[in-house]
Amino acid sequence: MMQIEIIEMSDTKAKFILKDGTPGLANALRRVLISDVPKMAIDNVEFHLGPIMVDGREYESITPLFDEIVSHRLGLVPVPTDHELFVFQKDCVCEGEGCPNCSIMYSLNKIGPCTVYSGDLVPLGNEALKVKDDLIPIIELGDGQAVLVYAIARMGTANEHVKWQATHGVGYKYMPIISVDPKLCDGGSKCTDLCPCKVFVMDGDVAKAENLLQCSLCGSCLKFCDMKAISLTEDDTQFVFTMETDGSLTAAQTLDYALKDLQARFAKFCEDLPDA
Ligand SMILES: [Zn+2]
Repeated sequence: MMQIEIIEMSDTKAKFILKDGTPGLANALRRVLISDVPKMAIDNVEFHLGPIMVDGREYESITPLFDEIVSHRLGLVPVPTDHELFVFQKDCVCEGEGCPNCSIMYSLNKIGPCTVYSGDLVPLGNEALKVKDDLIPIIELGDGQAVLVYAIARMGTANEHVKWQATHGVGYKYMPIISVDPKLCDGGSKCTDLCPCKVFVMDGDVAKAENLLQCSLCGSCLKFCDMKAISLTEDDTQFVFTMETDGSLTAAQTLDYALKDLQARFAKFCEDLPDA
């Protein structure tokens, strides 16, 4: 039975070991983490056209960037996502029209000269849906320029577009199996000095592989050891995973979703198999 051992877990980063798995299972988990965890992202942006009056002064609703580039930049801003709160628009009671169960509306209203940041997006309604990364620059407005925008976020997955990708840098390596033959080791400590990942320590006169999780499987220890005392292989049942999220979901929520999603897929697959 596959198991997960958490090594590190912060809000947006995780490192864990998948135990008793197979290479296929590890890759399936990687792919679900990348493409199938739903998140909210801005998908529809409406620009106010024409002059904007602020305090008796007329501003032009114009920016140095094309509207479509501004829209694209807004799409990539991580939008806080709660899987309990939101559903896909296609599954929503509103039948895809857009409602508070399936979408979040933001307004962006700034006059130049200034830099417009992600933090300037104001959620209409629930203040808790304010984006967490305040300082992502969107546009720079010159004097007399202004932007007034309504942006709607909806749920999607990265299968559709990368802006709905909740994770970044998802990868894994095989767990190394390193052993030092104490009969051959001459205590020359070349491996402790020269291993770039600092995997080895001296245990009396004999080297010992201690920091296995740091090993990048580069194999330089095999080259450096004059006595050929080290053996290095890969364990294809254990995988060391690292992943990050963009902040729209926590690393724990993302991993939890991916594991449940995989489990449901396997269950469905078993159900669909004809009885033997
Ligand atoms: Zn809806």
